[in-house]
Amino acid sequence: MPPSGGRSNYNCSSSRGNSARTKSVSICRDSQTQNDADRNRFRMSNRSRTLRMRRDVLELASNFVSLFLVLGSLYKQHKKKQRPMSVTTIAVLVAMEAEAAPLIEHLGLKKQDKSPFVGPLPAVVHTGKVGDTTVHVITNGTAHGFGVDSVGTVPAALTAYQVCEVLKPDLLLNAGTAGGFKAKGGAVGDVYLATAFKNHDRRIQIPDFDVYGVGATDAAPCPNLRAAMGFKDGVVSTGNSLDCPEVDSQNITSNDASVKEMEAAGIAHVATMFGTPFIAVKAITDIVDGDKPSHEEFMENLGAAAKALQAAVPKVITFVAGRKIEDL
Ligand code: SAH
Repeated sequence: MPPSGGRSNYNCSSSRGNSARTKSVSICRDSQTQNDADRNRFRMSNRSRTLRMRRDVLELASNFVSLFLVLGSLYKQHKKKQRPMSVTTIAVLVAMEAEAAPLIEHLGLKKQDKSPFVGPLPAVVHTGKVGDTTVHVITNGTAHGFGVDSVGTVPAALTAYQVCEVLKPDLLLNAGTAGGFKAKGGAVGDVYLATAFKNHDRRIQIPDFDVYGVGATDAAPCPNLRAAMGFKDGVVSTGNSLDCPEVDSQNITSNDASVKEMEAAGIAHVATMFGTPFIAVKAITDIVDGDKPSHEEFMENLGAAAKALQAAVPKVITFVAGRKIEDL
């Protein structure tokens, strides 16, 4: 194969003497080397120009992607700010089927046959309208493998998370039965509108974690609702047991709680995460510091408490529907 500088090599040959030819050949070689170097340099500079161009294009593309991401997040923030501050969607979270049934019937809600939630969450959604406001009543559903209602903080938080993510309510309302306290003036059938939510079974004696353990969270401020309903005010204390051993009892006292139940603080944890206003209405089925064991009294009064909820919760819904959050 002829060298790439073949043509110039040929042009360089002349009819001069030997030494001149040698000189000329060496000059030719020099100039060929020079040409090769030039060509290589040219090729290199071409290659580096192509590389530079490629890098520039990539940089430009990545700048565009970043710009789109920034614009996307600004748009999302803008939409969030634009979200109507009045209550147009309410999610009522109820742990047990029996607690929710009279309320669902009273409001004439329809069961959503296909779950709107992701994955195997057993929660059941009933939906309807109160005026222009969409109302969902969500029960935690039957516990997989146990066949009973999914009571307690874990199912409550799982359901609340999906409710906030999928149904995007303007207000979360936890309705349910609870234990009351003679010492706090409580009686069976009382209805409480929670002022704050705390845990009584998360004992973590490490600085800061102790505070996290109690997890005190205020209910959404709702002075007008309180005045209009006339329910009792009180701190709701949550734990994962129906009974009340001494250690829980001490914590409930230091929580200054009037109400003991098993879900609200789990929901409060999620409501805080999503920034969704959260209130709770609790009907008393049993007196924790009374003479009867909670589980017996609970079963005796579950029906009556569910009826009390059936009366109280629609009143709350009618009051909050369409109202601005700051006017509650
Ligand atoms: N014995 C019932 C189970 C009740 S579990 C049954 O057989 O189905 C208690 C449920 O009622 C929980 O959802 C809890 O939030 C509420 N509750 C009522 N009274 C309570 C109390 N004294 N302590 C804790 N939770 C109580």
